[in-house]
Amino acid sequence: MDEQRREQVRERYTYRCGYCGVHEADVGSTLTIDHHRPRRHGGTDDNGNIVYCCTRCNQHKGAYWHEVHAPYIRLLHPLDDSLDLHLLEEQNGQLVGQTPEGVFYIHRLHLNRPQLIEHRLGRCADQRTLNEVNELRQQLRDLQQQMRRLHSSFQETMDEIERETIIDNSFP
Ligand SMILES: [Zn+2]
Repeated sequence: MDEQRREQVRERYTYRCGYCGVHEADVGSTLTIDHHRPRRHGGTDDNGNIVYCCTRCNQHKGAYWHEVHAPYIRLLHPLDDSLDLHLLEEQNGQLVGQTPEGVFYIHRLHLNRPQLIEHRLGRCADQRTLNEVNELRQQLRDLQQQMRRLHSSFQETMDEIERETIIDNSFP
């Protein structure tokens, strides 16, 4: 596969493994090219058949093709299938299959390997921190607004006192 084509694949998969979701930056390198339907089982080089994926997922997937291999369950396609319908991520970072295809997908690709669970939990922690920072930012904006309001009402009061003082002084 030429360089330009490979770039397009990386972009299409937003630089992440189509199967487990790790980013190139998490792995520290570019990822591999997988043929969803293996070439030896009639798979082509068409865009739809190319999956960008990490080495480990590629190894686990191997040359599986449901028409020839047990348990004859179709391996979900990261872009063509709605993975959300088949997979559920639990609080503890574990993926749970919601359909037979989902269960098989997790099992075949070993998507509950300890390092991936750790990765998912880390991502959740990052998200929580980000939410907290955004909440604090909003509180800060609210406080700034309150301070502006207080400042202008303080200014009005001072102006009023000043006017009264002038009036008082003009009528001794
Ligand atoms: Zn992967």
